[in-house]
Amino acid sequence: MGVHEVREGFEALYGAAPEGVWAAPGRVNLIGEYTDFNEGFVMPLALPHTAVAAVSRRTDGVLRLHSADIEGPVVELHLDRLAPLTNTSWAAYPAGVVWALREAGHTSVTGADVHLASTVPTGAGLSSSAALEVVIALALNDLYELGLTRPELAKLSQHAENDFVGVPCGIMDQTASACCTDGHALHLDCRDLSIRQVPFDLASQGLSLLVVDTRVKHALGDGEYAERREGCEEGARLLGVPHLRDVAYEGLDAALARLSDERVRRYVRHVVSDDHRVERVIGLLDADDVRAIGPVLTEGHASLRDDLRISCPELDLVVTTANSAGALGSRMTGGGFGGSAIVLVEVPDADTVTKAVEEAFAAAGFTAPRVFPAVPSAGARRVS
Ligand code: ADP
Ligand code: MG
Repeated sequence: MGVHEVREGFEALYGAAPEGVWAAPGRVNLIGEYTDFNEGFVMPLALPHTAVAAVSRRTDGVLRLHSADIEGPVVELHLDRLAPLTNTSWAAYPAGVVWALREAGHTSVTGADVHLASTVPTGAGLSSSAALEVVIALALNDLYELGLTRPELAKLSQHAENDFVGVPCGIMDQTASACCTDGHALHLDCRDLSIRQVPFDLASQGLSLLVVDTRVKHALGDGEYAERREGCEEGARLLGVPHLRDVAYEGLDAALARLSDERVRRYVRHVVSDDHRVERVIGLLDADDVRAIGPVLTEGHASLRDDLRISCPELDLVVTTANSAGALGSRMTGGGFGGSAIVLVEVPDADTVTKAVEEAFAAAGFTAPRVFPAVPSAGARRVS
């Protein structure tokens, strides 16, 4: 659904034109997984798929929310009665952003009418939730002239998801949606939140990065994410460092030798080696050697599968099939247990690789995957 339809949908619902329309993208992470809460490095890029929201201000403390993608009437909430963890519907995401803004002292936000639609697949590990939060945060920032920066909007959106919705996500997804730029991957240091736009122009290199949505729904809330997070914190504690970011790659073997718990050892090895893989990918991109990142992606997958143990048969099948059909490299991306994988291919090989993956899924009796290119796209913006 495009900007025009969202604008018209708003008018049909609320009887007046919106003050503006904003868009915020979903993302895929190129490399650096489960590193964000360890204060390490990640490298996402924004997708062309966006959440689009038409928004107007209100002065009566009422928030009205409607999504074209969800059946049901307009959700009406009162700002002075927004309480964390009390709303389990989709409306908790946008309501959480308004709550987080007001918590941060932006009480000039006195209500809004919202109608939205999104092309970001939900629950596919592509951050439809962050797109939803960031589009609302940016719209309210513009309309109420709050003067917040992109990283600040990302932080508020994460606060909404962590503490209002109740999902313990890191800062990557919201930062990607708020801060990415066209033709770049975003190098984010999750310690000081400094960012660098790294040119990632696949098309001029004759390359394509495919996203393969396995259609297996991940559920980060089911305890696995929290278990990995707790295991990483345990590792940092046992090694006497604030976060696993502080374990140097050069000292990894020595650090592992000090850990007797096999599970914690695996988690530490994944996080420290994935931080190092982010550095390697940046080095290769800076040297304009894009093809060489393929094997680093595949190595990252092995680490997620064997050390962090967050893959699943569908994701593993994408990686083995794509690589044997001629891909330069591939890995699962996002939270794991389903969701999506990314595959780096030469453009002329894209169809062969896609077909091979589709056939392998059919032969295994899996639901047909959805495959599309991840063109590095712009972050959140006003569109009308
Ligand atoms: P992901 O962020 O990986 O897509 P999440 O489980 O974190 O998966 O977020 C998905 C949830 O976000 C949905 O269940 C829904 O509550 C909300 N959401 C995403 N897109 C929309 C939309 N277009 N309309 C309403 N709610 C949405
Ligand atoms: Mg999400």
